[in-house]
Amino acid sequence: MPLSKQHIASFKKRLLQQRESLELATHETETDRAPVALDQQSVGRLSRMDAMQVQAMSQAQQRKRETDLRNIVGALSRMEDGEFGYCTSCGEQIALKRLQVEPAVRLCIACATSNETS
Ligand SMILES: [Zn+2]
Repeated sequence: MPLSKQHIASFKKRLLQQRESLELATHETETDRAPVALDQQSVGRLSRMDAMQVQAMSQAQQRKRETDLRNIVGALSRMEDGEFGYCTSCGEQIALKRLQVEPAVRLCIACATSNETS
């Protein structure tokens, strides 16, 4: 049974919200990822080591955000093409419950599982 218009609309709303919050977080953490300056006067007692740790953590989080963002943008463009809700690997419909947990998901449970194990 294909997804109803209402389902698609609510997933779209969630995807757009997710995209917005990811973009906001990307913007807000920009300074954390900036190269660590040699002069750490400006950050008070925070040592250069701490600053580098913050930077590394922030960069890792940013990589995760960029992956999520790509998935969301992909899901939105599949929505435009009327392919949203179908597995990009086997073409089977993705379970509604799975989409409700994560609307940006690309793979059905079977493909996701075999991807993990192979
Ligand atoms: Zn599949």
